[in-house]
Formats: sequence, C-alpha cells, structure tokens
Amino acid sequence: MDKKIIIAIDGFAGSGKSTTARLVAKELGYIYIDTGAMYRAVTLMWLRSGKELSESSICPLLENLKLELLQGNEGQIVLMNGEDVSGEIRTPAVSSYVSPVSALRCVRQKMVEQQREIGRKGGVVMDGRDIGTHVFPDAELKIFLNASVEERARRRQKELAENNIVESFENLVKNIQERDHYDSNREISPLRKANGAVEIDTTNITIEEQCLKIIELAKKILE
Ligand code: C5P
Repeated sequence: MDKKIIIAIDGFAGSGKSTTARLVAKELGYIYIDTGAMYRAVTLMWLRSGKELSESSICPLLENLKLELLQGNEGQIVLMNGEDVSGEIRTPAVSSYVSPVSALRCVRQKMVEQQREIGRKGGVVMDGRDIGTHVFPDAELKIFLNASVEERARRRQKELAENNIVESFENLVKNIQERDHYDSNREISPLRKANGAVEIDTTNITIEEQCLKIIELAKKILE
C-alpha cells in the first residue's frame, strides 16, 4: 500500500485512545503518536521548576524543552531533554495539573507545531483531544472514542497498577471528570467530536474489537 493516511483519534480521558492508536499503528506499519504524553511532559517540566501556574512562568520554560518521541515495543518512549520520562509523566501529580497547563496558548502552539511536522507525510496514527478538530482537520480518518466514566477509571487504575502506581478508584473518577470538564470547556481547541468523525463507544467492547473497527475503516480508505 503506497498511500499513507493520517488517522486522528480523539476522545475523553481514559477512553482507550493510546492503546488503540498504538495497536492500529502497529497493524498498518504506521508511526504512533500519543500527544497527551507531550502535554504531560510540559507539565512535568513545569512541576519540577517549582514556579507558579501562569502563562508568564510556563512559556519561557518551553524555550529549553526538547521533546523526542520514540517508538518502543511496549509503547511510546518520551525523552525530555534526553531524559526518559515515560513513567513519571503518568503520576497522579502530573495528571492533576496537565489540563490547566495544556490550556495555555503558548503550550498548545508549540505542541501543535511539532505534531503537524511529525504527521506531515502521513502514515501516522495520532491520539489526543484536538487532532481531528485542529491539528489535522483534513485527516482521512477521524475517530472519536467514548466510554462510561466508571469503565474509564477502572482501565486507568489497571494501567497505573501495571506501572506500580496505586491510586483509589474515587480519585481516578474525580480526576477524569475534572479533566473532561476542563478539556471540553477551555477557550483554545476544546475537546469536541470533529466533523466527519466516527464515534465508537468502547464501554462494552474489547480493545481488539475497537481496533478491528478502525483498521477496517482505514483499509476501506486505502483500497
Ligand atoms: O491523553 P492523556 O489523558 O494522557 O492527556 C492528558 C491531558 O493532556 C488531557 O487531559 C488534556 O488536558 C491534554 N491534551 C490536550 N490535547 C491533546 C492531548 C492531550 O490538551 N491533543
């Protein structure tokens, strides 16, 4: 298959975007980009700086930020100025602040610029909140994933446990609801189902089933 398309996968926190995007990319031989990890890395950088949460203190930090996204066997590896922060960006501290940090204009501008550069030639599955609406509004295939809050919290808890991070179910539900609200109501590129996106409710289907649906849709476009 010579033609290489862009697949944009957006949706609420914990709806299975990253796992789905990674597996779909593997099946198609595409690059997989988890854009949430980029916003998490910026948040980690700011947390480490000890500065207040404001545009004037976070924007200058971006000048010294070099983000590299590598394709690892178990998922995306995130290097922040050469340091592997793939585990640390998943901690509850980062999850608590990532939504307000990623709502800042300078942060979004810098991340979107990098994402467009990565996807320029196609052959990419990118997941996030604004990929189909803003980063690649002309993506050949747009998906919007959703699932009940409880199911999403259960999945997050399992994922964290696999990385030896213990977090209560109640805290996860609260964090997911807060992020959904923040992400959907921010001024710049709020989370929305993009025009032409195919919505998939993943509450009662397996990761394999949701991947299969997306791969079928992609193959139809590639035929
Ligand atoms: O995908 P994940 O849940 O790791 O994303 C973490 C946070 O990063 C989201 O809650 C959202 O605030 C932000 N994000 C964003 N735009 C994206 C991807 C993530 O604002 N494209």
